[in-house]
Amino acid sequence: MSQPPVIAIVVPCYNEEEALPITAPKMLEILDSMAATGLASPDSYILCCNDGSKDRTWETIGRLHAMDSRIKGISLAHNRGHQKVLLAGLMTVCDRCDAAISIDADLQDDPMAIVRMVELFVNEGDEIVYGVRSSRATDSWFKRTSAHAFYNMQRKMGVETVFDHADYRLMSNNALRLLAEYGESNLFLRGIVPHIGLKTGIVTYQRAERVAGESKYPLSKMLSFSIDGITSFSAKPMRMIFLIGTILLVLDIAVAIWVLIAHFCGRTMSGWSSLMLSVWFLGSLILIGMGIIGEYIGKIYIEVKHRPRYAISKTIW
Ligand code: UDP
Ligand code: MG
Repeated sequence: MSQPPVIAIVVPCYNEEEALPITAPKMLEILDSMAATGLASPDSYILCCNDGSKDRTWETIGRLHAMDSRIKGISLAHNRGHQKVLLAGLMTVCDRCDAAISIDADLQDDPMAIVRMVELFVNEGDEIVYGVRSSRATDSWFKRTSAHAFYNMQRKMGVETVFDHADYRLMSNNALRLLAEYGESNLFLRGIVPHIGLKTGIVTYQRAERVAGESKYPLSKMLSFSIDGITSFSAKPMRMIFLIGTILLVLDIAVAIWVLIAHFCGRTMSGWSSLMLSVWFLGSLILIGMGIIGEYIGKIYIEVKHRPRYAISKTIW
């Protein structure tokens, strides 16, 4: 790379009027230091993405832009959630930068890691660099445990994700263009980005407390996000229905033997044996049938997403 790259820092903001005036100058400082050392272009900038905030976030972005034009903004018509506003930001900068870094507005993710991400991008040619938390000491016990349980469950379901990585990452222009080809509306970027492939690197950092304001992710949002994270990538839950049905069908043999013995020993009431046998047998058949239908629905689900079938990372012509 002959010229230092233009870096775009993309910041999703929902009701962040308190945090932004602290966060934006901090990030400008980092851009300044990278421009001074020649690591990034002086044209690098920050895109604040207002996710239909109810407070004065958008006005704050306007005020910050008036002070320094490297702070730019977009505003969604109404609140669409972190993943969608982040995608809107990334697609806005897609053709206007060499690499984009997504980071939350609350400085919980150490902004100094931005420099190390850009270094990996420039020196190692990493097209995707994940920010990974080295410790979650500042998270509550509940958040930490539930997050780890969620990562483990995802792995078991065959979803490819990076442990302890939230949406703090660098993506090259090339990676952004490949991301643009994913047409799905149930967005789970932490699963989609590893799905793209490309050369990746990792930068670790300590997670801090929120700089101002409070979390915009209540338990209900976290839960629905986790369910999205599994169901957007895996048809395994449906396959499990089929598996349970098959196991029950095998168990039927044991149940049938037990019922017949009880029947011939005369230890049963009339009608019990036939009822038991049919409940077990039909139950397992129904589950197997649902599993088979699920298998087809899973295929349809994958098809309607219209995901790109491959991603070319380099060409020599
Ligand atoms: N956020 C958003 N839209 C929402 C909720 C959150 O853009 O509907 C942003 C928020 O402004 C912040 C980031 O997503 O920049 C992460 O949210 P938060 O820090 O509240 O989540 P937590 O770190 O507590 O999980
Ligand atoms: Mg946060």
